[in-house]
Amino acid sequence: MNMTQRTLIIETLNKAGKSVILKGWVDTKRDHGKITFIDLRDRTGKIQCVGIGQMSELTIESVVEIEGLVKERPANLVNPHQLTGSIEIEVKNYQILNKAVELPITLDTDGREIGEEPRLKHRYLDLRRERMQRIMRLRSQFLREIREALYKSDFVEIETPMLTKSTKEGARDFLVPSRFQPGKFYALPQSPQQYKQLLMTAGFERYFQVARCIRDEDLRADRGFEFTQLDLEMSFVDRQAVMNEIEMVVKQAVKTVGGKLQQEQFPVVTYQEAMDKYGEDRFDLRTEEEKENGTLAFAWVVDFPFFKKVDKKDVAETRDSKSGWTFTHNPFSAPLPEYETDHLAGKNTDKILTTQYDLVCNGYEVGGGSIRAHTPEALQATFKTMGYSAEEIESGVGHMLKAFAVGTPPHGGIALGLDRLVMLLAGETSLKETIAFPMTSTGRTAVMDAPNEASDEQLTELGIKIVGSSKKQSH
Ligand code: ASP
Repeated sequence: MNMTQRTLIIETLNKAGKSVILKGWVDTKRDHGKITFIDLRDRTGKIQCVGIGQMSELTIESVVEIEGLVKERPANLVNPHQLTGSIEIEVKNYQILNKAVELPITLDTDGREIGEEPRLKHRYLDLRRERMQRIMRLRSQFLREIREALYKSDFVEIETPMLTKSTKEGARDFLVPSRFQPGKFYALPQSPQQYKQLLMTAGFERYFQVARCIRDEDLRADRGFEFTQLDLEMSFVDRQAVMNEIEMVVKQAVKTVGGKLQQEQFPVVTYQEAMDKYGEDRFDLRTEEEKENGTLAFAWVVDFPFFKKVDKKDVAETRDSKSGWTFTHNPFSAPLPEYETDHLAGKNTDKILTTQYDLVCNGYEVGGGSIRAHTPEALQATFKTMGYSAEEIESGVGHMLKAFAVGTPPHGGIALGLDRLVMLLAGETSLKETIAFPMTSTGRTAVMDAPNEASDEQLTELGIKIVGSSKKQSH
């Protein structure tokens, strides 16, 4: 292979008259007898390459290296629709680096006409299409803006464990069997909630993480079991301070990637007002025109009830509560200050409001957080209301109670759903379009075929026996 330096397609624009080496994919091919035209594509764009008496063997999406001359096109052949439409490559030599067989899915459309299964099975191809390239790059840029804004605000990025103990976020846990302690299980994190609070005990004051969260929820067409959230926690703050910080970061990142905000200052609505006015707490403030032009209408919702009666149809809720009462958002939250006395005394449970704040956008909840209980008494009170005995509290969150007795500052935080934010920014309606390798609607992984059976040897090592059919549905 010729090891001379590669020129990117975008760089050919100022190389007319020069020889270049291009590398990329065969985007399209047109055979005209002796002359073969291909459009070559790399990460920076496309360019027409002309082969005289050569290249007719090339197949679409093969990877090639082309050595050729950059030539200005005659005025009547300029293609105004292509960035490089004023030039073309006269091919001297070429080499096939990887030959593509006939493709199982087409790539020259936006892909919406193709079924989910073939798209996800061949996701490495599906991601090549222009729409998916744009979304993935938007996601990366958005995340970068958020990171930079947080670094400027003195946040520290810290990772927390994936193999951990259950943190209740209202879903079922995914369990991982322990080989060293057969019969015991780790839980995959529903969120980094407890660890991020412990980082406040540890004195970091401002933490964030781009965190993967795993919740065994009933699947919906547009989501799988795992998602990414921008998770953060701050010490010595009240509700307003966290909301201000997040609003600043979100606004800056949205604007930098070209998003349009409806209001410079996000409106704050109480839960009660939202229910009275919109009948739900994830409302859409956009006008019809704003819906068309891709405006993002953010708003805060505050003053939620802390507790609610368990929905008996919800398995996780029923499991989490022993008294018939369960938390509406997060058991680690603190009540609003005026309800502290009632909360500690276990009185007027239905009236207690929490410090929770949700961020909504265009009818979706895109984030939520709260000021936390940071004393052992406050956290114990929440679990007592949910009917936990002193022993059950100790075995569930005893480690938090201990941390709250060795100098834990008042703190609060939030998590933003990154997949959802990117979905709204990109004007998409499915979370899957924002995730490189999402799960199918039936809970199978993209490209690789999981879940699958474990070998007898693996099961024996783990001390696990499968009873009943593996085809049994769990929900
Ligand atoms: N742990 C919460 C969640 O994952 C977010 C938070 O309260 O910071 O929804």
